[in-house]
Amino acid sequence: MKESFLVAFGTDDGETLRDKGHFGDSQKFGIYKIGKDSVSFVGWRENAKVEEDETQIHGDPRKANAVKAVLKEVDAVASVEFGPNIKRLLPVKACMIMDPGTLEHAARVVQSNLDRLVLEIEKGEQRKVLDLRDLSKEGSGPLRIAIASGKGGTGKTTVATCLAQVAEGLGHSVTYLDCDVEEPNGHLFLKPEITERMPVGLPVPKVDQDTCICCGECAEICQYSAIVCVKDKILTFPDLCHSCGGCVRVCPVDAIEEVPRTVGTLEQGKAGGIDFIHGRLNIGEVMAPPLIKAVRERAKNNGNVNMQIIDAPPGTSCPVITAIGDADLVVLVTEPTPFGLNDLDLAIDMVRELGLKHVVVVNRHEDDNNSAREFCNQKGVEIIAEIPDDRRIAEAYSRGETMVSSLEEYKGILEDMYEMIRHKAQRDKVKRQV
Ligand code: SF4
Ligand code: SF4
Repeated sequence: MKESFLVAFGTDDGETLRDKGHFGDSQKFGIYKIGKDSVSFVGWRENAKVEEDETQIHGDPRKANAVKAVLKEVDAVASVEFGPNIKRLLPVKACMIMDPGTLEHAARVVQSNLDRLVLEIEKGEQRKVLDLRDLSKEGSGPLRIAIASGKGGTGKTTVATCLAQVAEGLGHSVTYLDCDVEEPNGHLFLKPEITERMPVGLPVPKVDQDTCICCGECAEICQYSAIVCVKDKILTFPDLCHSCGGCVRVCPVDAIEEVPRTVGTLEQGKAGGIDFIHGRLNIGEVMAPPLIKAVRERAKNNGNVNMQIIDAPPGTSCPVITAIGDADLVVLVTEPTPFGLNDLDLAIDMVRELGLKHVVVVNRHEDDNNSAREFCNQKGVEIIAEIPDDRRIAEAYSRGETMVSSLEEYKGILEDMYEMIRHKAQRDKVKRQV
């Protein structure tokens, strides 16, 4: 085995790694010779100028070939971000994803991870992207990837459960959170063994009529008509109460105490190596956000998990915002139909309003239907994967099986999708922390 390796770092300014855009779009590449005991700069390679075909959502192969030709002699490449052409580079070069910084520093980071690089180079066509980013900073926490859609039935849970299974298969510690508490169905696919159940309640007012002096202050402050004054009696409507506590605070004689009202149940368990948490909202209950919050809070106490897959409720209202509000990346699942794209439009507006990074997965993609590509192109949103309209996927779904567990040939596509999503989420998280 060689003692030193040639590594290409993508850069625009000749000093720092390119940190806005893909490796293949770098102005030039800094080539370093990296060995166990030494790092030396070898020279520059100008990138080839290829007019990319933007309609190729999986990357233009001509561009990949041009980059491969420019970097013919190098063993590995490194960048802050790769595009879809990474799939064409990986079989011939080890690919490393890194934190932003100077080329000198990046070369030193590679040197300190040389053993890992050698292992990847030796794997040949079986290589995976080598992640050399430092997520150990305090407060970095788990990656939170939310799977959402503007409407139900687009394949959101299919994508979420597959991502969780792929993460587990790759040895990542992962928690799957089903926040679609009105109709949770992730458990039908992951089949967890539930080990804990607990009611989730909201504090609502209970009035001591003997102490009450009927001043009406509580009814006046309540924005939801959940407590009203009728003649000389105070009535409460717990179902309308939003638990703001306002009435308790204004009561001059402490006639109001807070008592719990159960809105649903939180269940937690294990699905193989996946930590599983979901909420079940009581039938007829409208207060989904508190239960969703409880599911999210529960996941925070979940030890050293490095990935959360959040299966969000459909739509664009309070429950989904509660579920995805702090996500590192939102994956919007759509289908290429007028209804699907209409709801995707609303979902994109919502995540933009919330300032959340987002990508799209197109489910039930047909080769002769470009409507989702054209729509996303217009909106400037990246499609990160397309899942074919395959009858066998629907049949597996109806049996309560995922693509990962029942359709071996999709494993590679799903792993690629997972890695791209993970890299994107991680990169944006690191940037926010810098
Ligand atoms: S807690 Fe808030 S919402 Fe509930 S009854 Fe009191 S004032 Fe109204
Ligand atoms: S604020 Fe207190 S005393 Fe006044 S009406 Fe309400 S419960 Fe009765």
